[in-house]
Amino acid sequence: MKLNFKQFINESPLVNYVTSINPQNNQKRQKEYDQESSLGYFSKKDIKIITNPKTTRILKEKLKNIGYNINILLYEKSKGNYTKEIEEYIQNNNIPTENHITFVKNGSTGDFLTPWMIFHTFGHAVQNYQKINPPSNSLLNCFELGFQLQQAKNLFMFKSAQNMDVPTKRIIDFAELENELIAEFLWNAKIRIKQPQFLSLAECIENKIKQSLNQCVGKIIYDWDNG
Ligand SMILES: [Zn+2]
Repeated sequence: MKLNFKQFINESPLVNYVTSINPQNNQKRQKEYDQESSLGYFSKKDIKIITNPKTTRILKEKLKNIGYNINILLYEKSKGNYTKEIEEYIQNNNIPTENHITFVKNGSTGDFLTPWMIFHTFGHAVQNYQKINPPSNSLLNCFELGFQLQQAKNLFMFKSAQNMDVPTKRIIDFAELENELIAEFLWNAKIRIKQPQFLSLAECIENKIKQSLNQCVGKIIYDWDNG
């Protein structure tokens, strides 16, 4: 089958992965990182992970299948509104934003920035974008009334759902469940479910995630409050 150009684009999503590390932060870097909120720089350990070719390879490999063009920009910078600076950086480095979702993350936020966690924080950015740009499109509308967080264990296959009994590893609230579901979608290009009777739930979640991602195409989304 011959594909037209638009289909061709959709069949082969483009992925750009860029890290911009500020050497001025080298003094501040800690090996471990256990703070709740971002300090605006990446920890030593995170820099090791995010600059590792394996990380790049995994991210690009995973995002190949989701049908969206994605930019991941890990741009080290303390908190605050510096939209202009990011826009300039993007322009100066010829990162295409048209038809792309451009995700920017500015520093370590507690959990080690494994490829999965990068996708999880991408979820934060999607949710942040939607806070400022409703309509709100909560995935939770897919769940039956009275749904309890604990039930995630019986529905989904990703690790944090399986760890719902482990206090330090469990998903702490519904917003984090949404982020994990977005990570699950980016990782597998679908929501995997444990039993076939949850198929319609998975479809509902997938559709809502696609609606959310559609909203973010052509936009720059930030994993911190950039307002
Ligand atoms: Zn989170």
